[in-house]
This record gives sequence, C-alpha cells and structure tokens, in this order.
Amino acid sequence: MKAAVLTRHGGNDVLSVGSLPEPVAGEGEVLVRLSAAALNRLDLFVRDGIPGVPVEFPHVPGADGCGRVEALGAGVTGLAVGERVVLQPGLSCGSCEFCRDGERSLCVDYEILGEHRSGTLAERIAVPAANVWKAPGQLTNEEAAAFPLAAMTAWRMLVTRAALRPGESVLIHGVGGGVSAYALQIARLAGASLVIVTSGSEAKLERALKMGADVALDYRKVDVGRKVRELTGKRGVDVVVDSVGAATWRASLAAAAKKGRIVTCGATSGPNPEEEIRTIFWKQLSILGSTMGTDAEFGALLKAVERRRVLPVVDEVFSLNDVRAAYERVESGAGYGKVVVRIPE
Ligand SMILES: [Zn+2]
Repeated sequence: MKAAVLTRHGGNDVLSVGSLPEPVAGEGEVLVRLSAAALNRLDLFVRDGIPGVPVEFPHVPGADGCGRVEALGAGVTGLAVGERVVLQPGLSCGSCEFCRDGERSLCVDYEILGEHRSGTLAERIAVPAANVWKAPGQLTNEEAAAFPLAAMTAWRMLVTRAALRPGESVLIHGVGGGVSAYALQIARLAGASLVIVTSGSEAKLERALKMGADVALDYRKVDVGRKVRELTGKRGVDVVVDSVGAATWRASLAAAAKKGRIVTCGATSGPNPEEEIRTIFWKQLSILGSTMGTDAEFGALLKAVERRRVLPVVDEVFSLNDVRAAYERVESGAGYGKVVVRIPE
C-alpha cells in the first residue's frame, strides 16, 4: 500500500511517500481503507524523535483518520464492511486499573496511532475495533478526519478536567492551533459567559471572533495576564486552557482568578516555563494535566459534532503526495485549525 513513511528521525527530508506491505486485520481488529488523515503537532514531534519513545522504521505517522471499513478481524461485531468511520486515536490495554475505570488515556500502556504504532497517513490501517467509530454523516471525509485528536483533547480539558460550568469565564491561548480552535467552540457549548482568546496573528484573532470568542487579544501588543484582569474587573478568569507552555505559563498564572483552574495538555513553546509558586498557593489555583480522552468523552464529542454543536475546523487540504508541504504548513503555525491529507482512492 501507499503511505507516508519516516525512514529515520530528522527534518522533512526523512519523510517520503513509499510502498509498504498491506496490513491485515488480526483478531478483534478492523481494516480501514483511509480516505483522509489529519496532522497534529504530535506528528512533528514523532518526526523529530521524542525522548523515551522509540520508533521502528519505516514508520507511518498520523493519528487522525476517516475511511471505510474494508474487512473485519475474527470476533468483531457491530461494524459492517463499507461503513464510513473515524478513528479514536488512543490505544489502551483494556485491563489495567485505569482501563477498568474507563480511563483509556491514563492506561499504563497507553499508545497513540502514528506515535507508538503505524498511523493514518496510509491507504490502509488495522486497528482494534474499539478505536473504530461511525463517522458523522453530514461531514466530508476531510472534515471527519479533522476533529478526533484535537477536539477530544479539548473536550477532556474543559468538560472533564476543568469541569467548566455555565457562566464561567475562560482564557484560551494560541487560538489558531487545533486544540485551541476546538476549545473555543466547546467553551461556548458548555455555557461559558466570557471566552477570551489570544494569538499573534490578526487573521486568526478575526476568525476566532467569528467563531464565537468574546475578546481576542494580540499577545504581541498586550500583556495578556494584565489585560485579562482588566477585562474582568481585576478578578481573572475561572479556567485557562494552556497548550503553549513556556511562552504563556506566567500569563496563565496571572490571568487565573482566585481558585481558578489552569489546564495544560501540551507545551508547543517548551516544557519548562518560569514558575511562580507564590501565585499558585496565594490564589489557591488548581493546575490540571490532561491528555487525549476516554471513550465516553469521544462519544459525547461525536454526538456534539453530529448535532453541529462542534464544527470541524479545516485549515488546508493536501494530497498524500504532497505530505511534506502539509508538514510545512503545520510547522509554519500559519493556519487556523487542522491540516488534512487526502488519500486518493
Ligand atoms: Zn490499560
């Protein structure tokens, strides 16, 4: 089969389109013929090499995908050949203490498609049946590929971890990114009374205002922490969504209200921010980690997408042959939402 392949770690020159053996659905697995995949920051990290996460080469990246069921492995029920599906990108053991509680993303052997095993930038993939979900009917293949990882991550951050309640206020850093673009929609859906977003791009700030943000701050022009306090009568916001890390952490601490919750799922600008412990204890802040999501969260998200309460945000679509250009688009940080790769029939 045709696939995007990493032959080693490095820059985009290690990425090519090649031919790999056809995957086969093992027991409990489903073979999916993919028609679209989406890129995440994770794919850049996997290409570069993540300390402590060994990769077997040739490696197929990609965590998000939409396609049709082509074959069912032994023992798989509830799915039919030809059905259009999306993939839940997290894989778990099913038997550890966290899996038994339904906490898939806390699994002690947690894996992500395209990181720990072959991903979705390929014509075919074999995945456990538990990862295969019916695609929302009204979406194009590209739209259906564009939400699972990022929107599920944002859903868990706001709905489960931060437990955002109607009437609360939210600050979302770096609104062009996939997680942030979905966090904006999910904050609105959860009934937030004030959603403030930041970006260093006028175009992204304008787009975010159209997509429901109340206030859009250009972090190149204002001190975000100070401005948020100003906008909230010195109170600060109840919840901060921070996937940026080093560059935004101090602003997150400053912007949070007393008893506020800061929820982090990533560190695209670096993992070791300057910390201010006095702010954390004096304001009695909760610092919440979050990663990926559970099946319950993914199911709830799918319902919200089906009801058009959460809309897929597609930045640009590339063909599989142009996968390097797709990576460059993600790396440029210029886009709003998800970069999608179309996989020709
Ligand atoms: Zn487990």
